[in-house]
Amino acid sequence: MSPVDVQPPSPFTVDDYLARGRRVVAAAAEAGLAGVLVTPGPDLVWLTGYQPTAITERLTVLVLAPDQEPTLLVPALERPDAEAAEGVRGMRVLDWADATDPYRAATPLLRADGTYGVSDSAWALHLLGLQGALPRTTYRSLTHGLPMMRAVKGADELARLTVAGAAADAAYGEIVKVRFAGRRETEVAADLAGLLRHFGHEQVDFTVVGSGPNGANPHHEAGERVIQQGDAVVLDFGGLMFGYGSDTTRTVCVGEPTQQIRDVHEIVRLAQEAGVAAALPGARCQDVDRAARAVITGAGYGKEFIHRTGHGIGVTTHEPPYMVEGEEQPLVPGMCFSVEPGIYLAGRFGVRIEDIVTVTETGALRLNNTDHGLAVVE
Ligand code: ZN
Ligand code: ZN
Ligand code: ZN
Repeated sequence: MSPVDVQPPSPFTVDDYLARGRRVVAAAAEAGLAGVLVTPGPDLVWLTGYQPTAITERLTVLVLAPDQEPTLLVPALERPDAEAAEGVRGMRVLDWADATDPYRAATPLLRADGTYGVSDSAWALHLLGLQGALPRTTYRSLTHGLPMMRAVKGADELARLTVAGAAADAAYGEIVKVRFAGRRETEVAADLAGLLRHFGHEQVDFTVVGSGPNGANPHHEAGERVIQQGDAVVLDFGGLMFGYGSDTTRTVCVGEPTQQIRDVHEIVRLAQEAGVAAALPGARCQDVDRAARAVITGAGYGKEFIHRTGHGIGVTTHEPPYMVEGEEQPLVPGMCFSVEPGIYLAGRFGVRIEDIVTVTETGALRLNNTDHGLAVVE
């Protein structure tokens, strides 16, 4: 089992980060905002490459505004760490010292009567602190705006997601060779985590091993249950490689599957195909959900498909846009997200199949390409 032989992608440059910041500023100006405030979290990683090692109660905030250079305000003790981040090299850095008021330190960076967009990861503590220091400022959530900007991937980001997907596929290719029957879910989960790392992931976010009845709970991770002969087992795993996410699911069977497991698996497989086929540029996110759901509902299992069809992926493994009824965001080439319908029969078993796809001019391209058939494991 040789590790995937991949050239590490060339790192993002300070210019890459500054270009992203300019896009955010332009969008903010168009939306009538005085600027955008970004606190530690995925948006800050995307804009600067900086992730404080400890996200604490101390204020760190990036201020992006049309009329000033990008400015990162950090706790003085974290200044060296911040300045080591590639994207921060092109920005002005200001700091505030313990025993001083960080919100007062932020006031020269903001317009006293401005309306600012604020990242979802901003702690209430900080937002309320800023409002206290500048009572005439107002704030708007960027739940939709900022992640949607991140949702359309550049070629350099797509290359990372492709490599992460290939590594997850390689892990699946090996996990079907290990013994399942008689071992605990946690042991197979540990195997999966080891495989993801072996194939190049620097971070493992989740290794779901849902055997038998546990597979009917979509967010069951892995527990002490001993896997039995005849179990359907949901394997859903992913993490980060070169800073970008993987997330794939296959359902396997320990020994010969029953006819019911075969039938349910085939319905999910067809639903997943339909969801991927619907991911055309110009379609809406909810169309992907509708297409997958129609297959499952048509087969009589509508009530057993208890979650949305997919989620975005990028610098995190779960992020907007969501493939869900009511999400009218149009699909744009470069968007990457999961298509992961499932059927969950409480007390018995579950089946889910998940691939990450990217939207191209002509339709969706899968970044996961392992077989969709029901694999039989030992
Ligand atoms: Zn989930
Ligand atoms: Zn998943
Ligand atoms: Zn997923």
